[in-house]
Amino acid sequence: MLVSEREQLRENIVGWVKQYGSNRSALIPVMEEVQREYGHISEYVMQVVADILDIHPVEVDSVVSFYSFLGHKDKGRFIVRLCRTISCEMQEKQRVAQQLENDLGIKFGETTANGHFTLEWANCLGMCDQGPALLVNERIYTHVTPEKVHDILEECRSTFGVYGPNALRELDVQDTYTRDMTFAGVDLAGMDRAMEMEPARIIEIIEESALKGRGGAGFPTSLKWKLAAKVDDEPKYVICNADEGEPGTFKDRVILTDFPDLMVEGMVIAARAIGASKGIIYLRGEYAYLRKRLDDKLDEQRAKGLLGHSVAGIEGFDFDIEIRMGAGAYVCGEETALIESLEGQRGEPRNRPPFPVNTGFMGHPTIVNNVETFAWVSCIMDKGANWFRKIGTETSTGLKLFSVSGDCREQGVFEFPLGISINELLAKVGGEDAKAVQVGGAAGHCIPASEFGRSIAFEDLATGGSIIVFGPDRDMLEVAKNFMEFFLDESCGQCTPCREGNMRLFEGIEMLEQGDCSMKYLRELCQLGESMQMACKCGLGQSSPNAFLSIIDNFKEEIMGRVAAA
Ligand code: SF4
Repeated sequence: MLVSEREQLRENIVGWVKQYGSNRSALIPVMEEVQREYGHISEYVMQVVADILDIHPVEVDSVVSFYSFLGHKDKGRFIVRLCRTISCEMQEKQRVAQQLENDLGIKFGETTANGHFTLEWANCLGMCDQGPALLVNERIYTHVTPEKVHDILEECRSTFGVYGPNALRELDVQDTYTRDMTFAGVDLAGMDRAMEMEPARIIEIIEESALKGRGGAGFPTSLKWKLAAKVDDEPKYVICNADEGEPGTFKDRVILTDFPDLMVEGMVIAARAIGASKGIIYLRGEYAYLRKRLDDKLDEQRAKGLLGHSVAGIEGFDFDIEIRMGAGAYVCGEETALIESLEGQRGEPRNRPPFPVNTGFMGHPTIVNNVETFAWVSCIMDKGANWFRKIGTETSTGLKLFSVSGDCREQGVFEFPLGISINELLAKVGGEDAKAVQVGGAAGHCIPASEFGRSIAFEDLATGGSIIVFGPDRDMLEVAKNFMEFFLDESCGQCTPCREGNMRLFEGIEMLEQGDCSMKYLRELCQLGESMQMACKCGLGQSSPNAFLSIIDNFKEEIMGRVAAA
């Protein structure tokens, strides 16, 4: 690199650091800018950034190596990422993969000699209802066929050098969801109503509704807010977790695309309730194409006086929202890992306590809620707690969005009351002949037809919304293998049971495939899975053996046929 180029690079980095706050939390956004502009993060860049942020270059290196969207190796001008998770796998992603390799003359993980294309796998692009899905830089392509691959690559070639490094950023997707969902009928009066109330009354209404977090864990929203509200410390933060990465989950994408007002207003209502002055939307890197429309939405709210100083004319209520991008790490969907990531660290889950409501972002009280949770907050403030409470079950109140994909006539986002049985759900989406349904994504449970009477609710089968339907001809061992491969890739590696356990389970499935796994070893693998459920540090590791264990347990006949004879 020439001296003048180095000077320009340094100047750019100084500018980005300033733009993102001149402290450690600027590290990842700055690295993302460098990656986008220069295609990789060099030793020199790491030294410059470390110098400016007053940290050691090794710390920068450890962050860069953690996130899949950052890297030391030079990548092509176009990074072509093909989704390999289960819903795309079921829609013949392998034929598309083969075509990409043939057309580009490289294997996955490689870059073409002319530096134009890099080919990579992606773990769930959130387009499970429209697979196979392909992300090229920040542009998403859906329903990709081998025939379409050629046109997509030609489109890249024709834009090469024309639009610069940020080419292919716009949104190009048709969302599929039930148009009559409640969100579409809400008149956005919820925020006006909330702004007329005392903060404590807002929390009371959310408590009366019995709303539980829609990310999957089902923690009572009002309790989280109450705890944060009573901490005597400032500033307080409201974080929106827009990092849905669970295979089979894409309902937040629909809210972010078509109902962002509800989410933003829900964040403002939360800020008023707990006394927060700052909000952050943590948007997954795979959804970068949604960023512009969200930025526009925030500008619109500022222009209306609904963000910024004296929000809604309330003296002393100052609250604004910033968007921060994830960089390709599923574990950052866990709230403490997400906070670590926002602070410029590797996205490794923290030990708890302390909890984020006391010691969250930058050591201050923080609530982290899912996109859908904030959207329901707006609806509840508009329609009332009783309306919400009357729907669903005693302990799982209200409506829920479900992302449905796989072997059914209608894939897409559906709104159903919590407590709906799997049988009822399958009848609505045209999946009556299913032999299994995965509830809760890769981290969830695989339910056989004999248990389709069970209900989807926090007291029975809890889910963040992922429903994957498997038809009569699906090979359940292949399903288990796909899920284990996902966890192998996404484990942060911090604790041994998760790091090593997922590897052993994956290898066990390969042995079963080859007829090399004995009954005794299969039993040991199941015991290992059960130990992981107890010994792993965070929810990712604790739930990673769920699919393996439930498939072995519920599809014994299929699996036992592959066990090696004693
Ligand atoms: Fe990381 Fe897995 Fe341990 Fe969670 S359980 S901290 S993802 S290694």
